[in-house]
Order: sequence, then C-alpha cells, then structure tokens
Amino acid sequence: SSWWRSVQPAPKDPILGVTEAFLADQSPDKVNVGVGAYRDDNGKPVVLECVREAERRIAGNLNMEYLPMGGSVKMVEETLKLAYGENSELIKEKRIAAVQALSGTGACRLFADFQKHFCPDSQIYIPVPTWANHHNIWRDAQVPQKTYHYYHPESKGLDFAAMIDDIKNAPNGSFFLLHACAHNPTGVDPSEEQWREISHHIKAKGHFAFFDMAYQGFASGDPEKDAKAIRIFLEDGHHIGIAQSYAKNMGLYGQRVGCLSVLCEDEKQAVAVKSQLQQLARPMYSNPPVHGALIVSTILSDPDLKKQWLKEVKIGMFCYSGLTPEQVDRLTNEFHIYMTRNGRISMAGVTTGNVKYLANAIHEVTK
Ligand code: PMP
Repeated sequence: SSWWRSVQPAPKDPILGVTEAFLADQSPDKVNVGVGAYRDDNGKPVVLECVREAERRIAGNLNMEYLPMGGSVKMVEETLKLAYGENSELIKEKRIAAVQALSGTGACRLFADFQKHFCPDSQIYIPVPTWANHHNIWRDAQVPQKTYHYYHPESKGLDFAAMIDDIKNAPNGSFFLLHACAHNPTGVDPSEEQWREISHHIKAKGHFAFFDMAYQGFASGDPEKDAKAIRIFLEDGHHIGIAQSYAKNMGLYGQRVGCLSVLCEDEKQAVAVKSQLQQLARPMYSNPPVHGALIVSTILSDPDLKKQWLKEVKIGMFCYSGLTPEQVDRLTNEFHIYMTRNGRISMAGVTTGNVKYLANAIHEVTK
C-alpha cells in the first residue's frame, strides 16, 4: 500500500542469514557450522532426554492458562539457584528482583529498557567482538554504546591489559556488559584470577556489571563452575544484573525460556524493581510463554531429572578459527560450507560424516 512505499528491505542478520543461505544451497556436500544449535551425528536436531522425560510428566496435567507477568515463580526460583548458588543468602534475603524472560535475548532487551528508563543518561560498554545482537538490543533501547577491548587477535586470547585500562578509563558508574562464560563468538574467557581483578576494578570505579550468561555449562561442562565469575562478583559485593537462557544448555531454543535478575540492596528495593520490570513487559508481550518454563521447572525441581540434565550438558560450542572473511567466502562459494564471516565455527555442526570434508576445505583455503 502507499503507506509503506518508503520501506526498504532490512539488512540480513549476519548469523541467521547464514542458515538461509545454507537452506537455499542444493549441494549434497553442504555443511552448516553457522548457527549455535546442537545436532546429532547425522546433523539432526537434538532434544535432551531429560527434556523428553519432563514433557512426558507434564503431558497429563497441562493447561493453557496465562502465567503471571513475571512468569513462572518456580522456574525463576530454580534459575536463580543456578546463577547465585543453591544456598545463596541473597535468595533467602529476597534481594533479587527476577522475572521470566523471552530467553536470553528477551532478558537482555528487558534490562536495556529498564536501564534506559531508570538511568536515562547512562551508556553500555560492550566487548569487541561480541554477539552481534547485543548492538541491536541496546540500540533499539536507545542506550548509547561504547566498546571495551576483549579479544587479542595475535595471541588468540584475552587482551587483558587493554580491557582493564578501558574499565579504568570509563566514566565512574558506567554499565559493563560481560559474558559470564563461553564468550560468543571467541570462546575466550578470563581466568579466575583475571575475573577477580576485573571485579576489583569494576568495583573501584562504581560500575554496574551486567552478565549475559547464555551458555552456563558449556565452558567447563559444569554449570556450577561456569557461574564462577558471577560468584566472584557477588563475593565482592557488586549489585549485578544477569540474563540467563535455556536455549543452549537445555536445548530449548524455540521455547524462548530465560530469566532476567537484578540484585538489589534489600527486599523492598527488589519488590520495586520487579514491579517495574513487569510494568515494562506488560505492554510488550504481557506475560511469557508457559510450556518451556514448565519443562525447566520440572527438570530442575526433580533431583533425578536434574542429575540427568547435568550429565547431558555438553561441552563447548564455538571455536574462533582465525579464518578471514575472504577465506570464509571461499569456503562458502567453493565448498558449500556456511559460517559467519568472522570465522566462528559452531562445533555442533561438525559430524563424523562431514569432518573430513570440512578439514580438507579449511586446509585448501588456508594453505
Ligand atoms: N547472548 C549471547 C552471547 C548469545 O550467544 C545468545 C544466543 N546466540 C543469546 C544471548 C541469546 O539467545 P536466546 O535468546 O536464544 O536465549
């Protein structure tokens, strides 16, 4: 219609666009190591056994009622234990404002909106590189973005000194976005000692640390170990925020189940903050979806199912290969191999059947 004449097609998403191109490719040899979703050895989607069992248990007594604006209380309770610790005093003191969110993306977006609303003059410091959607999220929430050093291409490790400098040079009371573990796309995380130093400097400057924890369990294979950075910040007395997601570590991608939490000074503040988070959610999506939340709470509140989940959480997902954008283009054009142009390989897409083909192709474009 005449109303939308000025609308131009949006640029393709750099990650989801890879899958589109892969699906359009007719070659029998094609390989997709782009998107971060688990696949079995035949390249088929994987559903965890604990999830299948939870679904069986749920099936008989499922209804379709709305969840409250803040989502499933039981799911949120279990989710907070994973991040803050099973016996966290902060949970007992009710100091954490937390709501179910539309997976990790929704949790980040809700926080960005909250930040804009209540700290309207603040900015967010984002690592270089980061998950590309972080930029979109804080942009759409109208929070200005700055970056901080993170990856060091020469050593293929952390640019720790530059990162600390950026923390020190940021204006006091800035917001810092940190990947809690299994940094996407590099797979490079600070060591425990480095986290302690990062925590120290962020505290000294009065910055706010916001953790995006999309891969709890994927760095070490143990969700408890992967919460180490968060626990260090808690020990040091930070008032942090956390975005949690079950997309990866429970394989619940399309269920959109996650959690946003904000640690407050006391229970009274937490009640106020939670009410404002719900107020932000109400005109956007009113309340979050019920099914995925029920799967999560069923698994985590049952000791046997939880034990099974801990066994099923696999290790690792992304490998920052060091391939250049031109080499990636050659892999795609000549070998029908799809990945993001930053050279990130999703190890979940590598199978017994394609590993040789993939390795040969990588060798061809890098020799
Ligand atoms: N943060 C990071 C760093 C991610 O890599 C992802 C998943 N790609 C997310 C958040 C959010 O994913 P989801 O919304 O599916 O939970």
